[in-house]
Amino acid sequence: MKYNKKNYDYLIVGAGPFGAIWAREAASRGKRSLIIEKRATIGGNMHTHKEHGINVHDYGAHIFHTDNKEVWDYINQFSEFNGYINQVVANYKGDLYNLPFNMNTFYQMWGVKTPEEAAEKIEEQKQAAGLTGHPKNLEEQAISLIGTDIYEKLIKGYTEKQWGRKATELPSFIIRRLPVRYTFDNNYFNHRYQGVPVDGYTAIFENMLNHELIDVLRNVDFLDEKETFLAEFPRVVYTGMIDAYFDYQFGELEYRSVRFESQVIDSNNAQGNSVINYTDRETPFTRVMEWRHFDNKADEGKTIVTKEYPQDWDRSKEAYYPVNDHKNSELFKQYRHEADKQDKVIFGGRLGNYQYYDMDQVFNAALKAVAKEFK
Ligand code: UDP
Repeated sequence: MKYNKKNYDYLIVGAGPFGAIWAREAASRGKRSLIIEKRATIGGNMHTHKEHGINVHDYGAHIFHTDNKEVWDYINQFSEFNGYINQVVANYKGDLYNLPFNMNTFYQMWGVKTPEEAAEKIEEQKQAAGLTGHPKNLEEQAISLIGTDIYEKLIKGYTEKQWGRKATELPSFIIRRLPVRYTFDNNYFNHRYQGVPVDGYTAIFENMLNHELIDVLRNVDFLDEKETFLAEFPRVVYTGMIDAYFDYQFGELEYRSVRFESQVIDSNNAQGNSVINYTDRETPFTRVMEWRHFDNKADEGKTIVTKEYPQDWDRSKEAYYPVNDHKNSELFKQYRHEADKQDKVIFGGRLGNYQYYDMDQVFNAALKAVAKEFK
């Protein structure tokens, strides 16, 4: 292993948000960190690159949204944000609907024009489905919230291809990520602070890690020499997959993966929106992003569109979404129990905690963890 022994205080495994925030916050308290990153890039799945003047998000659309002012102020130290508001359009077999579920969607689906009419329609469908008790799974939760028609056209197919399993086998919290509103408001998120960084996310990580007390080594896999690293560093922050850290001793946690297909098109506007979801079961991709619409930046006459295809995960693929069903949650608890016994190691981030985290939640978790470390 080629690194200078500079009396590092921390070895940080992974240059994604949890690791980068830890390094930066430790540095601001006079502590020195070495970050090792198995990829050639920094920023984890927030990584972006610029092509034809367009900021392309390499691991799918990342829109920063939060109600947490501390987190918002924190990330704004490293970049200006552009105030982008995500307004997704759904295409179901050629018919277009606004998302998230709101008065525009209800009008498009049923022709209803008032909140009262919409609520009546939804209640009628919920009753007809016999759903009165506490929703036991994603399907029941969705129908209770927005009725059978919207469930069948905008949720069932998308969800089942996205997750590779039936909506009746998925936890209900997944669908509660999406707002349901009785107003004509297409904002995909309810949060007060929203946007995309004007120079892409990679620049944020470059700024964050540009500090004399932080060194970054790319293309280094902690798990190749775990015991050596653990022996050499006084404290380790690990943001990789928790089951991989423990050599899968209790079995593999399941993830859902996605793959992307991008295309450069000679056009100033290929699809007219930054994200279009294809909500039928047959179309193999879930959504299509057109990156120039995220920040109105692009070379004249060029646009880049990316199709997102869900796929099964195995160890050769990137782990994107933890599958937080009962079985995997129980398995995670076993790993968490082992993790608690690792005195010098802190487990963090989406993979280290096996959580379906949004970016702001990772930021918040990292800031809290660092504060605890230095209290
Ligand atoms: N979803 C859906 N239809 C849509 C968009 C989302 O059924 O058009 C469901 C689907 O189960 C998805 C979940 O809502 O996994 C959460 O969607 P979100 O857009 O928050 O997912 P992410 O952007 O994190 O992939």
